[in-house]
Amino acid sequence: MDTKELYIIYLIVSFGFILAIRGLSSPKTAVIGNRFGIFAMGLSIFVTLLVLPMGNDFGMLAAGGLSAFVGIWWGLKVKMTKLPQMIALLNGAGGLASALIGVAEMMRRQGYMFDTTLGMLVGTIAFSGSVVAFLKLEGKLNLKRSSFNNVLMVAVLLFICWMWWKFLITGRLAFGFLLLAIGFLFGVLATIFIGGADMPIVVSFLNSFSGLATAGIGFSLGNIALIITGALVGASGMILSFVMARAMNRTLYQVFFKSFEKSENKEQDQKNMREGSVSDAAFLMENARKVIIVPGYGMAAAGAQYAVKNLALILKEKHHVEVKFAIHPVAGRMPGHMNVLLADAKVDYDQVFALSDINPEFETADVAYVIGANDITNPSAKTDPASPLYGMPVLDVFKAKTIFVVKRSQGPGYSGVDNPLFYQDNTLMLYGDAKKVTEEIIAAL
Ligand code: NDP
Repeated sequence: MDTKELYIIYLIVSFGFILAIRGLSSPKTAVIGNRFGIFAMGLSIFVTLLVLPMGNDFGMLAAGGLSAFVGIWWGLKVKMTKLPQMIALLNGAGGLASALIGVAEMMRRQGYMFDTTLGMLVGTIAFSGSVVAFLKLEGKLNLKRSSFNNVLMVAVLLFICWMWWKFLITGRLAFGFLLLAIGFLFGVLATIFIGGADMPIVVSFLNSFSGLATAGIGFSLGNIALIITGALVGASGMILSFVMARAMNRTLYQVFFKSFEKSENKEQDQKNMREGSVSDAAFLMENARKVIIVPGYGMAAAGAQYAVKNLALILKEKHHVEVKFAIHPVAGRMPGHMNVLLADAKVDYDQVFALSDINPEFETADVAYVIGANDITNPSAKTDPASPLYGMPVLDVFKAKTIFVVKRSQGPGYSGVDNPLFYQDNTLMLYGDAKKVTEEIIAAL
């Protein structure tokens, strides 16, 4: 295969990844986007095997086969709730690959080394950071941040810059390996003190880092497919990190330097929440013109998505009610959590609406059915400057005519902040497991 043919294939691969990202940006096109990604990845592996001057063909194929087997087995077996951990480790694998290629190039090359060391360093940080993120998400690491940690982190960062500079001007391998070691340490320090709520932002940030490492290595190897793919992953991961941080009312500075503090729930005892019944809910829903369902973490925890889908179907088909689903970008515990669950239950994409599209509709909704959601519906984020959630975009559930909230207790949501929505005169609480309560409403319907 000559260079021209190789470049054409690399362009097809890059185009495949661009279509994949484009497709994955909407639930409607996500499946086809995923297929483009699989095609592009398959083609790039295939062409790599064709063009590489292989010394040890058997070893290469065995390693590739084993990795493919582990990937497929893990992908089939992983539980929806463990996806963030899986993504963290896959980011780590990408970072490690870039770091290893960087090391090999560093030892082989003479002279200009900026791109190689950039790929190696960023890949190492992505690797060690991702392993720590995995352990934290698994609940195996839980360290509290102190201001000393931040000082240490900045000191290590400055040391990295200095060591990098030394290596680039002297070319001494000892400096290169020291750079690798400090990069590893920095990845650990940057993630180890980050709180649980911020972890998905960090995972997305590390994903972006593994993309940047890939692009760096792409420059080093003169491989345009790696450069384009790395830039795509780097940019999309960075944008996702910003979008998530905004949706959780955090800045990236706060994520890396200030811990997320859960607030105390003080007001709860002085006010009353009104309890409703399953038959009230069924009656109001079947007589409504419009019902908006607001799923949150509790729906995921209870595995209630299938019951919710049935409820929507019965209301629509039997009672001719307009039913819509309102999705907040950080509902649940990972980006796209609710979209994935609703897609799994085969809820029609046309019924699913993002925050900005659905918010104007709450004032015309007869019933809002809040199932296991809390923080994402908290009106104090809009009305109370003293609230820790103030400024976070929330669903305007409080504007609906009647609101039913399904949860098991009077406890707060993830942020620990009290939710005034639950004390509104038109809010009725349905205490119980999300799946069980929804099935009871279906039975009553
Ligand atoms: P919340 O955590 O705010 O609220 C979930 C509610 O579900 C709780 O009030 C809980 O109440 C209830 N619940 C739990 N289990 C059940 C069950 N089996 N049946 C019925 N109810 C149940 O979730 P939201 O989705 O509203 O908001 C997400 C929160 O998580 C936000 O604060 C967001 O910032 C944060 N976050 C989001 C991430 C993301 O990427 N999506 C990542 C990390 C954090 P009770 O215990 O009384 O049942």
